[in-house]
This record gives sequence, structure tokens and C-alpha cells, in this order.
Amino acid sequence: MSATTPRRVGIYPGTFDPITRGHLDIIARATRVVDRLIIAIAVNAGKEPLFTLPERVEMARHEAAQIGNGDGSRIRVVPFKSLLMNFVDEVGASVIVRGLRAVSDFEYEFQMAGMNARLNPRVETIFLMAADRYQFISSRFVKEIGRLGGDVGHFVSPYVQGRLERRFRELGVSEGAARVRRKSRKKTGRRATRG
Ligand code: ADP
Repeated sequence: MSATTPRRVGIYPGTFDPITRGHLDIIARATRVVDRLIIAIAVNAGKEPLFTLPERVEMARHEAAQIGNGDGSRIRVVPFKSLLMNFVDEVGASVIVRGLRAVSDFEYEFQMAGMNARLNPRVETIFLMAADRYQFISSRFVKEIGRLGGDVGHFVSPYVQGRLERRFRELGVSEGAARVRRKSRKKTGRRATRG
């Protein structure tokens, strides 16, 4: 590509709470379509994320650095708090990348793409599908499984798995442990009232 050829910049927005093997598969595919990819991590306070914005950015940076074939050097991870379509302009992107898992994703993505197209008609949204073995993965279920003490190693990298385990330890969960604590608190409470 000559120096004068405009570079196609794509932006892959999401919450990434935390980044999963599904996200990574989409990222690897996106780097084949665009010259530079910006992983834009939304603050998304409404979703009450398990990880803070700086933590999610740090994990995504760690994961992006592992992506092979030198593709990692074409990826940047940045936080954003503004309207996506304004942010797209700020970073000079012309393509929004989204992943589609199942029919269930379609309606939401369809509406979002339509409204974004109205806000900024110069930007195209493209949808990519992950490989079969990653399609069912969602950050939400990874967190639910992890919270209950299940093995999330199939769904996230060992690094992210470690971060999840640490976070649940910090929060004093697994749920199993919490249930035992609740039970014993009830018992002690009962004993205390009985005198
Ligand atoms: P959101 O918070 O909007 O659901 P996420 O942060 O979970 O977004 O994911 C960002 C994007 O990645 C979304 O387009 C979502 O559909 C896509 N995505 C997440 N997991 C997968 C997966 N396993 N396969 C394909 N796309 C995925």
C-alpha cells in the first residue's frame, strides 16, 4: 500500500467486561478487514460492570498484545465515555465492527446500526461472526459461571481467568461460600435472640 492510500480505520466498541475468546476471535477477523483497529471500551455504568474501565482497558491491552502475525501492532485499545458516533469521528474511523452471535443479537444490533447510520452516514457498520466454538460465549455468562466457582478457562484466556478469580475473591464470592456465610449468620442470629 502506498503512503498516499488512506488507511481504513475500524472501531470495535463494547463493554468487554471482561474480554473473552469470542471478542478475540472477532478482533483477529477485523484486523483482516481494516488497516488499523481501535478497540473502544465503553464506560457503560448502566451495566454495573464487574471491572472498572481502566481494568477492562488493561486486560484488553494485554490480550491484544498476544494476537499473532504482528497484527497486535495495528490494534489500539482506548476507553471512551462519549457518544460512539462522535468518538468515531474523533479517532478518524470509517467502519464500526460488531460481532453477531445468534439471532438474539440481531434486533439490538439492527437498531443500533440504523440509528448510528442516521447520526453519521459516512460510517458503515460491519458484522462479523466468530468461529462456531466461540459463538456462544458472552461476558455475562462468563461472570455468572465464574461467580459460582465454575471453570471459565474455555471462554477466556488464563490471564483473564486469573483476574476473574482474583475479583471474586476480593468480593468475597463464590456464591457457594456466600450462602454458607449467610446460613451461619442466620443461625448465630437465632441463637442470640434465643439468649
Ligand atoms: P455489549 O456490551 O454491547 O453486549 P460486548 O462488550 O459484550 O458488547 O461485546 C462487544 C461486541 O462483541 C458486540 O457486538 C457483541 O455482539 C460482540 N460479541 C461478544 N461476544 C461475542 C462472541 N462470542 N461472538 C461474536 N461476537 C461477540
